[in-house]
Amino acid sequence: MGNGFFEVPIAVNEPVKSYAPGSPEREEVLKTYKEMYKAKIEVPLFINGKEVKTKETATMSPPHDHKHVLGTYYKATKKNVEEAIETALEARKKWAVMPWEQRAGIFLRAAELLAGPYRAKINAATMLAQSKNIYQAEIDSACELIDFLRFNVQYMTEIYAEQPESTSAAWNRIEYRPLEGFIYAITPFNFTAIAGNLPASAALMGNVVVWKPSNAQIYSAKVIMDVFREAGVPAGVINMVMGDPEMISNTLMASPDFSGVHFTGSTGVFQGIWKKIGDNIKNYKTYPRIVGETGGKDFIVAHKTSNPKQVATAMARGAFEYQGQKCSAASRCYISKSIWKDVKEYLVDDIRSFKMGTPEDMGNFINAVIHESSFDKLASYIDQAKKDKNVEIIAGGNYDKSKGYFIEPTVIVTKDPKYTTMCTELFGPVLTVYVYDDNKWEETLHLVDETSEYALTGAVFSEDRYALEEAVKILENAAGNFYINDKPTGAVVGQQPFGGARASGTNDKAGSKQNLYRWISPRMVKETFVSPTDYRYPFLG
Ligand code: NAD
Repeated sequence: MGNGFFEVPIAVNEPVKSYAPGSPEREEVLKTYKEMYKAKIEVPLFINGKEVKTKETATMSPPHDHKHVLGTYYKATKKNVEEAIETALEARKKWAVMPWEQRAGIFLRAAELLAGPYRAKINAATMLAQSKNIYQAEIDSACELIDFLRFNVQYMTEIYAEQPESTSAAWNRIEYRPLEGFIYAITPFNFTAIAGNLPASAALMGNVVVWKPSNAQIYSAKVIMDVFREAGVPAGVINMVMGDPEMISNTLMASPDFSGVHFTGSTGVFQGIWKKIGDNIKNYKTYPRIVGETGGKDFIVAHKTSNPKQVATAMARGAFEYQGQKCSAASRCYISKSIWKDVKEYLVDDIRSFKMGTPEDMGNFINAVIHESSFDKLASYIDQAKKDKNVEIIAGGNYDKSKGYFIEPTVIVTKDPKYTTMCTELFGPVLTVYVYDDNKWEETLHLVDETSEYALTGAVFSEDRYALEEAVKILENAAGNFYINDKPTGAVVGQQPFGGARASGTNDKAGSKQNLYRWISPRMVKETFVSPTDYRYPFLG
């Protein structure tokens, strides 16, 4: 066995490829997309490294082409979920004591597999399963997931290096143990990177995991599982189960060995999980760690001194990229009256130039929303806005689900700053604007702070430093990720650790050391070299 204080490669962000016409990456991803579109796949459960097929199945379809079937996935029974727990606990015996450099090697390998041989596949799978255009797929499923894996390895070693002071008489050491039990990772549909990171970050720190991907993301989750297996994640360390979320959660969280949940998704679901943990608290062997990154109602507030073209561009990108289905997407804007005419003109021009359709046609900036229930919800809010007084739709407003779940990017202007779409998370391409009087800057900042229960992302635009400073102070608790003169989306691992507070989550900042601390339980070891032999202290003299 070799000894050494090993140094891991310094993490750098994976460069984003351009996919410009004629580029080799564009050709490769389109070829892969076409092949995957035609093939029919099966996604089994993964328990103890084995593929498990059950009697109950469901089909998977692209949101932009919902009559086309990409394949089938198998749904877990209660017994399967119980097997996943047993298998994880069995795997823990070896995994938790495996030297850290072996774990690092596995996840660094996973990053390289994604950067190279699996890049086109994970991107094409994300385009098909979640209806992302190639740029949105590349920054998510390739680059962000690669970044999570590389940076987390580096952060793990930085944490392990954090050690207390010692003296010549006593040596103090901290061991960063994995949690006792298993971690339950629950992931949302909208980011393939999050789906990969939530199980991987806990496993990297020596934990065993049962992972439940969103039913709407299983197609690309399968590629992640293939990468984990090829990278060498041992059997039972990350188990993937799909099916009824309620049954799966109830079964996992009833186990006395449940030691933490790593959740990303909506606020209501997370609150239900927290409640269940509370109800079961007496049954657990250890207090479970609860990490949840949840909903948002993210804002842009523009001062009268801001540049209208920059504000309009931030709105166009921040609200409508990936159909507004980012937890960080701008969905309420506060624009000062004197610049609104220009901002509106630029914004409406931009929206008119958007093309909408399948991601296979790379001219399309906008694709479909994830599923029928999301489509119906968004359509109902748009219909309501068409009827409401005090509200005007200045762009979009149409929708069509005959082939795919297409909603036109829609801008609502309201005279009521507490109008329903200024407060409620819709999670789609609908942006609401409130125009405020130029002289009500401070009042508007308080309005921004008090309008929503969430506090995920927010952006302020101004060329006036005093106005910016006021915004930074008044909005201190209104966003976990706060942007100055930039759109509120597009956080990069290692540069802008991501997460929000209030109803937006526990703010444990994915892609940072803070998050990894949640998956370890330090043990302090003090070793005294010459132990005392007399209880009397000198003062007793
Ligand atoms: P969702 O809450 O519907 O689903 C998230 C996960 O929870 C899925 O795996 C789902 O199957 C599971 N789930 C659903 N009901 C459950 C139950 N009763 N018990 C246990 N698990 C259950 O969210 P979604 O539609 O997949 O994703 C969109 C939501 O996620 C939005 O609210 C968005 O803001 C949020 N989100 C937040 C962040 C962040 O970092 N804060 C990132 C991405 C998405």
